[in-house]
Amino acid sequence: MLKAGNRFLLGMMIMFLLLSSANAVELTSQERAYLDKLGAVTMCVDPDWEPYERVDEQGNFTGIAADLVEIVSQRLNIPFVIVPTVDWQETLEVSREGGCMLIPFLNQTAEREEWLTFTEPLFVAPNVFITRNEHDFISDPAELVDRTVVLPHGTSMEEFLRRDYPNLNILTVDDEHDCYRMVSEGEADMTLRSLTIAAFIIRRDGWFNLKIAGQPPEAHYVNHLRMGVLKEMQGLRDILNKAILTITPREREEIINRHVNIEYLQTVDLTWIMRMGAFLGVLLAVSFYWNHRLKNAFADLRESERSKSVLISNIPGMAYRCLYDREWTMEFVSRGCQELTGYKSEELINNRVVSFNTLIVPEDRENIFKVWEKARGAKLPAELEYRIITADKTVKWVYEKGVFVYDDHDNVLGIEGLIIDISDRKAAEEKLSSIAATDELTGLWNRRRFMQALQQEIMLAKRYGQIFSLLMLDIDHFKSINDSFGHDVGDATLQHFSMVIKRHIREVDIPARYGGEEFMLILPKTDLDGGYLIAERLRKYLETNPIPAGPEPFHISVSIGVTACGPEITEPDQVLKIVDNALYEAKNAGRNRTVKKTV
Ligand code: GH3
Ligand code: MG
Ligand code: MG
Repeated sequence: MLKAGNRFLLGMMIMFLLLSSANAVELTSQERAYLDKLGAVTMCVDPDWEPYERVDEQGNFTGIAADLVEIVSQRLNIPFVIVPTVDWQETLEVSREGGCMLIPFLNQTAEREEWLTFTEPLFVAPNVFITRNEHDFISDPAELVDRTVVLPHGTSMEEFLRRDYPNLNILTVDDEHDCYRMVSEGEADMTLRSLTIAAFIIRRDGWFNLKIAGQPPEAHYVNHLRMGVLKEMQGLRDILNKAILTITPREREEIINRHVNIEYLQTVDLTWIMRMGAFLGVLLAVSFYWNHRLKNAFADLRESERSKSVLISNIPGMAYRCLYDREWTMEFVSRGCQELTGYKSEELINNRVVSFNTLIVPEDRENIFKVWEKARGAKLPAELEYRIITADKTVKWVYEKGVFVYDDHDNVLGIEGLIIDISDRKAAEEKLSSIAATDELTGLWNRRRFMQALQQEIMLAKRYGQIFSLLMLDIDHFKSINDSFGHDVGDATLQHFSMVIKRHIREVDIPARYGGEEFMLILPKTDLDGGYLIAERLRKYLETNPIPAGPEPFHISVSIGVTACGPEITEPDQVLKIVDNALYEAKNAGRNRTVKKTV
């Protein structure tokens, strides 16, 4: 977690990065002239939608959206000003009447498309299931039996869940707050909310018995928050897209951390940490109290120590007191030691059989020492996550929180704290990140999700005799782009290429990033000639339109393999092999061409 000082430093670094990359977006002279003519960009926001956006009494615009808008504003060198509204309803009304040029942060819906045109996503946030702590991790919602989900009334999530998971019982309430309360109090088993907002609310309102338990696999449970620009201002939308494409995953992560103070998707079960934090807070307060008494009344010592050890021996995990040396020589460890490490307390105390340091995975040792050094300088508790190897040679992830104990002259006497096993949480996190469906760089579906989609398409072909075509696209000599302009330009090229693909396809088509610079495209209900036509259109577009990345715009070309399948195909591998062969032929024949092959 970031401490105030670190946050300040981070803020300064971000400022520096923003300033130093203020000219990152290359605009044509027409685009510059267009912006100059506009003057300021006017926008309407939701004044009360923390942590995404908020307008305070002084009219300051803050939150995740505000920071993202600020990056866009700096990179394009144009000011954004707020047209004040009292609530979201009014924001939509003012926008519809043309009272502002854009709304900076909203989901694209068919209704909103009536008057707005949308940019690429500024921010992608999955919706996640929130349960009480004791609930299992949810890897497949379809397998849940007899579970009640509570949702705010009339949301798109309600519509999707009812359609996708008829096995779930759905309750609706008027107020978002009630969702959390009902789950916390056991009136419902779970709710489905945006990860970012849930992390914020759980923390702010102290729902310490709730946790994030999983994510539905379908892409439509992921919010894509975009800028919605008045339809008649397409030019502005295109310019904004250029700036949005320069926002890096890292910048987004830093912005989230600033407003939600979690590591996105890496500390999924953050409620757990908060619970522990609250618990340890009490424990440490008790411990300080004892130390205080120790100073004043030596006679009380034995009694205090006795009650302390009664308390400590009954808590989960291993409470300890150790010397501040490189072996972490233990002076006291609680009974939980054996369950955590496989060694008895006596074996660890005074390094009799092993020192605690030898239990720590060697690569983690140096860092642990550094964290403690830093905590000592700052006079703060330390929090760490690292791995230990237990007596039976299993590796466990542990979480530790502790404080230095000082004497009257401020000399360090040792450290007191608690260490607990978090291996389950780490495993759950890994599982959760592997079920995430989108590729972070391009926002397209990843390979795993693409394979599911392909399987589904094959199933539809078999069952309903539908034909679909499959395109495999590989950028030519992509390596030389990295070599000439650097990896960042390579990344921007991949993002731009993804956008070009999306512009050339229908809503029902499925683009995916298959690997580094390889993409797949499923075109439902499209035959071989139809697939070939789209492939050629895309390829020719790239011939005439340079990529606006790097020091100067440059051209890329693409080789494409196309095939089409009907009911005769039963396995994804069959069709993948054919399309791969077609691509291979296109490459061998000199690149920058499309080769089609029948099944
Ligand atoms: P050709 O398609 O004509 O066969 O040659 P190529 O250079 O495009 O293909 P090759 O497979 O030799 O190299 C692909 C390169 O793509 C190598 C790898 O470093 C780069 N790459 C893969 N993923 C990424 C990424 O996410 N970002 C960037 N910048 N480069 C990537
Ligand atoms: Mg290539
Ligand atoms: Mg390749």
